[in-house]
Amino acid sequence: MLHRGLLIAGREVNAASGETFPVLAPETGLVLGSVARAGARDVNQAVEAAGRGFLAWYRKTPAEREAVLLKAAEIVAEEGEARFLELLIDESGSAIRKARREIQYTVDLLRTAAGESRRLYGETFPNDDPQKISLVIREPLGTVAVISPYNAPLSLLTKMAAFPLAAGNAIVIKPSEETPLTALAFGKLLIDAGLPAEAISVLPGFGSECGAELVNHPRVDSVALTGSTQTGVLVAQQALKGMRRVQLELGGKSALLVLEDADPEQAAAIAAQGIFTHAGQICMANARIVVEEKIYPAFVAALKREAESLTLGNLRDENTVYGPLINARAVEKVLEQVRAAQSAGATLLTGGEISPVGPLVIKPTVILDAPKDSAVWREESFGPVTCVAKASGLQQAIEIANDSEYGLSAAVLTNNLQWGLQAARKIRSGAVHIGMHSFQSNALAPIGGVGMSGFGRSGGRYSTEEFTEVKWISADTGSLPV
Ligand code: NAD
Repeated sequence: MLHRGLLIAGREVNAASGETFPVLAPETGLVLGSVARAGARDVNQAVEAAGRGFLAWYRKTPAEREAVLLKAAEIVAEEGEARFLELLIDESGSAIRKARREIQYTVDLLRTAAGESRRLYGETFPNDDPQKISLVIREPLGTVAVISPYNAPLSLLTKMAAFPLAAGNAIVIKPSEETPLTALAFGKLLIDAGLPAEAISVLPGFGSECGAELVNHPRVDSVALTGSTQTGVLVAQQALKGMRRVQLELGGKSALLVLEDADPEQAAAIAAQGIFTHAGQICMANARIVVEEKIYPAFVAALKREAESLTLGNLRDENTVYGPLINARAVEKVLEQVRAAQSAGATLLTGGEISPVGPLVIKPTVILDAPKDSAVWREESFGPVTCVAKASGLQQAIEIANDSEYGLSAAVLTNNLQWGLQAARKIRSGAVHIGMHSFQSNALAPIGGVGMSGFGRSGGRYSTEEFTEVKWISADTGSLPV
């Protein structure tokens, strides 16, 4: 059976404890293999190595750092499917279309990060004393702990890792315990591309063990977490105890507004894509849909048709929209939210049960009139479930969208740009998209949230700013000849 160790400073090693854990395939429930289970001693070893790796990597010129990241992009462009496609399907239950998109996006992210290596701009500012000059330069933080989730185990990890590297940091990765194999393959990719081996380690393990050790390690300078809000709160509290910087990309309950002038069929197709891609296991999925009264009946009928027409199950079928959720716990959480909402008076328009195609596959689910205090309306489901609510007009639609502790992404479907922009300015969210659903990616965009969706931004220069510190240097130039 497949067995993988930890990747510490370019070497595959067993955990100091000798412990391992199994990796399961969500589609079949079969054991894919086992991986070493990192603990405190392994964390210590990886962080010590990162300290040395940081010096080796930061001494490289921007052009050399750019070349490594470009090389990684080139390898993924040429060999991405061979290296990652089967892993993404098997380990994270990704449909082949989603897996391919992740691989393509990974190329894009690596190329974009490569460019950022050369753009760590500084500033100068005026001084009232003409003899003095001031410079502001950007320096890397040192060692960044990258703690990643399972839903897009390659592209999200790339986004979290490549930009801190571009800025000259070393990284220690703690991937989701559900998807360690993809992360180990990512670590190998960077080493193959020429990254100094000590500048990257990958530590498969559990959040409460290896993750917590990493967050608390005194030689870790910064923590980047993409994960649930519950984990984010814990990690932020721990990191701040040691004054480590944190960047948190957390959960969401994104709203999609459908205004009265939208075409109902088109709006339903966009909405279905925005919620059902990867079974709704997307932080920015439009899990709440707010529809103006006039268009509500036609939109709801069209969304039901869309939901019931999706191809589910076989992950290697090019038409499959989604397959299983990551594990049985996730399935039970979603079904419980749906049952509780029904008991509280909500209407189940469609779905709400396991599909015959697989035990972890939930049918596309649409709920009407969910009480505003129900879990399915307020809390993240991270499954193929959306709630549709009616609004009397634009103002009320915005108020409903803002009635959430989360604020990651939102979207407005309208042909009236002025309405769209009004909504965009009034919705409290890290992003608002007009004429699209709420799940949008762009390697240059500042991705991140407000409220319980976290803080800090990732993507393009927003990432490199996040993973550098500014330093003020001033100098007395002596008296100047006029
Ligand atoms: P999770 O919070 O369970 O785990 C995320 C990571 O944190 C994992 O690697 C886990 O092992 C680690 N972890 C857990 N407890 C820890 C602790 N005490 N200390 C240190 N590390 C710990 O999240 P998940 O279930 O893997 O992923 C799904 C969640 O991620 C959803 O809430 C989703 O919205 C969110 N997410 C957010 C974004 C974004 O960009 N905002 C993107 C993708 C996923």
